[in-house]
Order: sequence, then structure tokens, then C-alpha cells
Amino acid sequence: MDCNPIHTTLMTSPVFRFAPSPNGELHLGHAYSAFLNRRLADMVGGRFLLRIEDIDVTRCTPEFESGIMRDLSWLDIDWEEPVRRQSDHFDDYQGALEQLVDADLVYPAFMSRGEVRARIVDAEAAGAPWKRDPDGAPHYPDDDRHLTASERRRRMSEGEPFAWRLHMERAVEHLHAPLDWTEDGEGPTGESGIVPASPLDWGDVIIARKEIPASYHLCVVTDDALQGITHVVRGRDLFHATAVHRLLQELLGLPVPRYFHHDLILGDDGRKLSKSQGDTSLSALRDAGATPGDIARMAGL
Ligand code: GLU
Repeated sequence: MDCNPIHTTLMTSPVFRFAPSPNGELHLGHAYSAFLNRRLADMVGGRFLLRIEDIDVTRCTPEFESGIMRDLSWLDIDWEEPVRRQSDHFDDYQGALEQLVDADLVYPAFMSRGEVRARIVDAEAAGAPWKRDPDGAPHYPDDDRHLTASERRRRMSEGEPFAWRLHMERAVEHLHAPLDWTEDGEGPTGESGIVPASPLDWGDVIIARKEIPASYHLCVVTDDALQGITHVVRGRDLFHATAVHRLLQELLGLPVPRYFHHDLILGDDGRKLSKSQGDTSLSALRDAGATPGDIARMAGL
């Protein structure tokens, strides 16, 4: 593995975190990330926290959460108590959302997935390529940005489902300085050091949904700040999302951690491991006789 010496500021005690979602079993890629966080924390005399990212209560289960803790304990990775479980903290995310509502930086987005799809099909049929975000998902159409305040109020009061979306251009205009972050690892095309952030690439991201009154982006910046995280060490698949996180940190007045995006462990098919690929789950490997030392070696450590 490529374990760059991580930079720390001696003034503050470094705080690392591992933040899995309990919507499946941990696999080798998670073991790598957890080991790396734990080891870096040890190297620099820092703290290591565990955060359970379970806002999607339809997919996350207490059984998967216990499985995460069982796997980490088996790997001899210990964490500080109490564990922060996101589903216990919806009030914190609500507070952050309200800040953005009050600043008029989010708007209620009413279009269903089907309506969005139809809009994109029409535009592409007319020869206009539709913008996509770094993960390949189409940008949300800008129709709902232009609804009048009274139209918004009427539709909300009639109980029409909506999500809060960030008005990305307006949010970016709000910034007083160029947006960037310090990357101690490496981006997909070798980016490191001071990396410019391009949140506009993401379009109007979801900040909160009707069924889940928060979003990954909102929760991750809120929690990293509330938990005093100084070093975010996570997979390279989240490298581009850091642009959104940096923007939200500026808008919400939150402190900025350093980032270390590590390489991903790929399966035999060359694709990143996923929770649906049971064969590399830590529990399956354990049942097949692997030891924690084998897992560390398989993870390249
Ligand atoms: N919960 C995310 C995941 O399981 C990780 C989020 C993060 O580290 O920022 O992929």
C-alpha cells in the first residue's frame, strides 16, 4: 500500500474516524480503510472514532451494525466510545439544513425520478447533451429553481413530496475565496497537495429528502465538525465528493479537516468491491478460516 506519512499539526490532537454504513457486511476494502485510520492515528498519537452512517433507515439494520463491531473487534481495531450513530442525531442535521434554508441556498425540488428522466430524454433527443456529475448521475433539471415563492408554499402545504436541493450556482457565488482542500493521499488522476474543489460539477445536490430528512453530504460535514475530525481518511471513490463537502463547510462555517483518499481494493473483475459481493465479506473470509493477519495481508498492509 501507499501509506504516505500523514501531516499533522502538533497544536491539535489529530482525530481520525471510520464511518461505515450498516447496509451490508464489511469487506476487505473496509478492513483496509479501518486499519489505515487506526494505524495513522497510532502513528501520530491521535484518536480513532467509529461513526455509524445509518440515516437510510430502510437499508441499514442493527444486525449489520453489530456485524461491523464484531468484524472490527476481530481485527483488533478498537475505537473510542461512545460511537456516534447518525440516526440518533437528526436534530443536528435539521439545524444545518435550517441554516441553508434561512440563507436561501436550498430550494424544494418536486420532480419525481420519472419526470427527471423524461426531461433528460427530451433534451437529449433534441441534441443537447445532459450534464452528469462525477459519479455519472445526471444533474437535476433547473425547473424547480424558478418556481415562485407562492407556488412553492402551495405545493408544500398540499403535502407534495419534495427534497431540499442546494442551488449550486448561488451557493458558489456566496464564497469569498477560492475553494480547495489539502490532499495527503491522491485523487484518481494523481491530484495531491492543495486541490481545487469544483462543486459545480455536481449540480444541485440533495441536502435532505422527505423520507430521510438529511443526506450523506450534509451529515458527513456536520459530524466531522461535531466530532472534531482533523483527518478524513477514506476511499478514493469519495475524492470528488470532497468538493461538495468543502462547499458545505464554508456555507455552514465549519472547520476544515485534511483529507487522505486512499486507493481502493479491486475485485478479480477489476471493479471496486461492493457489499453485494459476499465472497469478500470479512465474515465469509473468517468462516473460511482466514485470520486477522491474513486479512491485513490480503488488504495489502
Ligand atoms: N459511509 C460512507 C461509506 O460507507 C463513508 C463516508 C466517509 O468516509 O466520508 O462509504
